[in-house]
Amino acid sequence: MLAGPVVAHLQSFFLRAFLNRRLKAEPPHRIPPPMDSSSSSSAAPAAAAAAEDAPPATEKLAVFWHEGMLAHDAGRGVFDSGHDPGFLDVLDQHPENADRVRNMVSILRRGPIAPFLSWHSGSPAHASELLSFHTPEYIDELVQANANGAKKFCAGTFLNPGSWGAALLAAGTTLSAVRHILDGHGKLAYALVRPPGHHAQPDRADGYCFLNNAGLAVHLALDSGRTKVVVVDIDVHFGNGTAEGFYRTDSVLTISLHMNHGSWGPSHPQSGSVDEIGEGSGLGYNLNIPLPNGSGDVGYEYAMNELVVPAIDKFQPQLMVFVIGQDSSAFDPNGRQCLTMDGYRKIGRIMRSMANRHSDGQMLIVQEGGYHMTYSAYCLHAMLEGVLSLEAPLLDDPIAYYPEDEDEGYTLKVVDVIKKCWRESIPFLKDI
Ligand SMILES: [Zn+2]
Repeated sequence: MLAGPVVAHLQSFFLRAFLNRRLKAEPPHRIPPPMDSSSSSSAAPAAAAAAEDAPPATEKLAVFWHEGMLAHDAGRGVFDSGHDPGFLDVLDQHPENADRVRNMVSILRRGPIAPFLSWHSGSPAHASELLSFHTPEYIDELVQANANGAKKFCAGTFLNPGSWGAALLAAGTTLSAVRHILDGHGKLAYALVRPPGHHAQPDRADGYCFLNNAGLAVHLALDSGRTKVVVVDIDVHFGNGTAEGFYRTDSVLTISLHMNHGSWGPSHPQSGSVDEIGEGSGLGYNLNIPLPNGSGDVGYEYAMNELVVPAIDKFQPQLMVFVIGQDSSAFDPNGRQCLTMDGYRKIGRIMRSMANRHSDGQMLIVQEGGYHMTYSAYCLHAMLEGVLSLEAPLLDDPIAYYPEDEDEGYTLKVVDVIKKCWRESIPFLKDI
């Protein structure tokens, strides 16, 4: 009922913006507010709150990990296709490979952030624990595929020997991480897991994902008595699986910032567009923020402050779930969003300030994509620095030499249009 006007509104905006850019006829770009600006009433306190609410020196971020997750091997081919055309001497390791996560583990263990972290071992999920999010038929399909040895579920998504055990560990490790918070052992927990999960829908695999790790954790939180949980997903791809799993409930507000990639086939029917806002009692509780390619640090910070912060302020969650992917970085082979370490650090700081404001500082962080072999690890380090509200950068950015697009005002305008759409179509956001 709301889709038509919203889509038309955005389409006409995009068309106009495109034409304006082509004709170089746009007025001077709006200057984005600096991080500490008070120009947006809802966003303003973010940095200040982060400084005020810096964690006590004794509080560490609990990292949940198990090396058994390295056993998943999606093979080699032309990028993520698994295809060998026969005329290339060197094929890619699948982008979602163990080495990328080895670097994430090692930078956290041996990088300057190490003193601020504690390490905890994950364990495999039981099959019965998967049914809070997934259908029994789909779990049977996965078990059968594992018993048969291997199966390609959809483009780029290969279950091979070792994959199912790794997927169960990823799910179980994420459940252990959220249990750490729910049981009062700590306020900040990070599930460093693979294979990733946010494309896995209740009844199907998609986009390198088999089990929706974050979705399972959200269900555990709901089952433990939390009545309002927000999921903020900054992986460069639309978190369609998580959105689908909570599309018809107002207990879980799902927010995804992503590249405007649309549907990519039968395994991913959702488009990630701004008009997919939930159904039934969930109407208004799925918020998509499709951002133009190259949105960069300034564009993301603006989207966080203008859209994500006011939405969380209105929703007032009892638990924050922060779904992270470093494939929104400037050098990722799977994304075009151009974030640098500085951008990730700022997003982490904003999310921490929101957790302090609404959920007594409690926040579960769940790993998704991020495919540049070294820069993903650096960006993870920076993001966790932000989450820990550490004062100065602990680690310099080794490769962020490429200047942001001077035409980034385009992203700011898109964010403004999305905000207008939300005011018109999302009842609880009508006065943001
Ligand atoms: Zn991704």
